[in-house]
Amino acid sequence: MDAKRIYLDHAATTPAHPDVVKAMQPYFSDIYGNPSSIHSFGQEAKAALESAREKVVVLINARPDEIVFTSGGTESDNFALTGIVYANEKKGDHIITSKIEHHAVTECADFLAKRGFNVTYLPVDKYGMVDPMDVKKAITDKTVLVSIMHANNEIGTIEPLADIIKIVKEKGVFFHTDAVQTFGHLPIDVNKIKADLLSLSGHKFYGPKGVGALYIRKGTRIVPFLRGGAQESNRRASTENVPGIVGMGAACMIAQAEMATAALRETALRDKLIRGIMEKIPEVTLNGHPTARLPNNVNIAIKYVEGESILLNLDMMGIAASSGSACTSGSLDPSHVLLAIGVPHALAHGSLRMTLGRQTTVSDIDRTIEVLPPIVEKLRAMSPLKKGGK
Ligand SMILES: *Cc1c(COP(=O)(O)O)cnc(C)c1O
Repeated sequence: MDAKRIYLDHAATTPAHPDVVKAMQPYFSDIYGNPSSIHSFGQEAKAALESAREKVVVLINARPDEIVFTSGGTESDNFALTGIVYANEKKGDHIITSKIEHHAVTECADFLAKRGFNVTYLPVDKYGMVDPMDVKKAITDKTVLVSIMHANNEIGTIEPLADIIKIVKEKGVFFHTDAVQTFGHLPIDVNKIKADLLSLSGHKFYGPKGVGALYIRKGTRIVPFLRGGAQESNRRASTENVPGIVGMGAACMIAQAEMATAALRETALRDKLIRGIMEKIPEVTLNGHPTARLPNNVNIAIKYVEGESILLNLDMMGIAASSGSACTSGSLDPSHVLLAIGVPHALAHGSLRMTLGRQTTVSDIDRTIEVLPPIVEKLRAMSPLKKGGK
C-alpha cells in the first residue's frame, strides 16, 4: 500500500469541498437553462445565480449588485485594472501597484505600461510589507488606481490595507485589492476598509476552478473586460458558469461557518512546522512576516540547495510543496516576490513554500518535519554551492 500522500500546496489550489460538488451536480444536466432565458428553465438557473451572489456578499459585507461573476482571480484582476483605467482615461493615466503582486496584476500593469500608461511599482520591506507612506508619496493628480494585494500568495504577508486605503481614498483615487488568498479565509469588510474593487477566486477556498468574482463598489464606473451580451448587468458578457457559480456560493457558506476555527487550527500547524524546520535544519530563514501572515503559509529559504531539487525529493516521499522560483515557466528567474523582499538570488532559488489546508493533520506536519531534514542534508552534501567548507 502506498503511504498517504500529503498535499501542502493549498495556495496553488484547494480541493473542492464534497458539499460544493454536491451543490453543483444538479446544474449540469437537470437545471441547465441559460440564466438569460425568460422561460422557466432559464429562470431556475437565474435564481441559483442570484442565490449564490447573496452567499458571496455575506463574506465581505457587500451588496448583491456589487458582485460580477468572472472566470477566476486572473480575469477579476485584469478586469479591475483595465476597466478602471479605461473608464478614467480623461482623468489620468497613472496606476500604482506593488512589486510583489500576483502575475495577474503585474503582467496586466506591464501591458498597460507598454501602451502609454504610467505605472509605479512600489517597493516592499524585508517582510513584504507596503509602506502606506510610500503610497501617499506616489499619488499624483494623474493617479486613477492603486492596486495592492490583501495577502501575498508566495510569502503569506498580509498588507496593512486599511491604512493604505485611508490614504488612497483621501486623494479620491480608486482602490483595488487582489484578495484571492484571503477571501473565505480571513474576515474582510469592504465597507470598513473602503475598498472599491476586490478580486476573489473559487478554487482558492474549496470551491471549483474557473470561477471567481470581482466586487465593484456601487457607483464605480468600469469598462467591461469581456464584450458581448448583457449578462451581469452589462458588466461581463458570456453565459454564466452556473454550476461553478453555485459551487462557489456553497464554498462561501462553508467558509463562513468554518473560517474562524480553521484559521486558528492552521496557524498552530503552521507555527509547529516553522519551529520544527528551524530546530532541525541549520541555516534556514523564514521568508515573509512572522505574524502578519496567512494562517496556512510557510515559506523558508534553505541555504546551499535548489528549491526544485527539494520539491522533487519531497514529491518522491509523497509530500507536495512548491518552490520559491518560477522555473516552472521555463525561465530560471527566481520569484519576483523573493527578490523584492531582498532575498539574494541563490537563496531565492533555495526557497520552499508549504501551504496547509483544511485536511492537513498534525501527523502530516510531523511527517514533513521528519522527511525534510534528511533531504536537505543529502542535497547539501552534494551541493556545489556549499564547496569551500562552509
Ligand atoms: C491564484 C491567484 C490568482 C489567480 O486566480 P485564478 O483563479 O487561478 O485565475 C490571483 N491572485 C492571487 C493572489 C492568487 O493566489
